[in-house]
Amino acid sequence: MRTWVATCAAALSMACAGVEEPGSQPDASSAQGGIEIEYIAHASFLLRSDDGTELLIDPYASRVWLGYDWPDGVLPSAVLITHPHYDHDAGRFREMTFPWGEGTPVVDGPGTYEFGDFTVTGVEGKHADPYGMEFGQLNTIMVVEAAGLRIAHLGDNGPLTPAMVDGIGRVDVLMMPGDGVDHILSKETTAEILAQLDPRVVVPMHYRLPDLEVELDSPSDLGEIEPWLEGRSGVSRVGGHIRTLSATDLPLNR
Ligand SMILES: [Zn+2]
Repeated sequence: MRTWVATCAAALSMACAGVEEPGSQPDASSAQGGIEIEYIAHASFLLRSDDGTELLIDPYASRVWLGYDWPDGVLPSAVLITHPHYDHDAGRFREMTFPWGEGTPVVDGPGTYEFGDFTVTGVEGKHADPYGMEFGQLNTIMVVEAAGLRIAHLGDNGPLTPAMVDGIGRVDVLMMPGDGVDHILSKETTAEILAQLDPRVVVPMHYRLPDLEVELDSPSDLGEIEPWLEGRSGVSRVGGHIRTLSATDLPLNR
């Protein structure tokens, strides 16, 4: 059964990620260790490998559209940006001050990159309609691999073409937008993507987290996660915001 990793809002500046129920059957991979996944909020995650390398994906600009603060002290080894919207690039496209350290490498396009234990593959995608016309709708799907695990972060990608599916390859953990008002993906496209990628674990993202909203500029056109989870089997929620996944504790059956 596919596992859905639901997330929930925390009272502090970081949201908390839900966690899956580990499967009892080991994956065929003999890889050691795992990837620690820390959910920050919205579409942003910090991934840590066993050697301490930290990849930050899609940091949002503090209090822009999202009424959330960006937490202090996030100093990753590298930053991955799927597309130049302020809720994914910390306002870089708008020349806002970056929350990460000066000189930190930033990956914002297709290609293959190595950071410590991590191999990152950026796959050329396309932002979901009708958004992103101002930058040609480029959205880079980020595939991160370490410890025998492949995590795909879709950013705000729309429907996947066969070329995108080929480029992404095997997906163990899928981070995809999902919310109660289908802000980025329709129900039909969501189902289609899940059928195409057939991930073992799904981590929904890009939904409203009212508990984190500290001012009135809040994303009223984003829905919450509960309606999106309704009717899905295998949903698991946890109260923490950090979870380590390893190739051996993923559910074997999708
Ligand atoms: Zn977005």
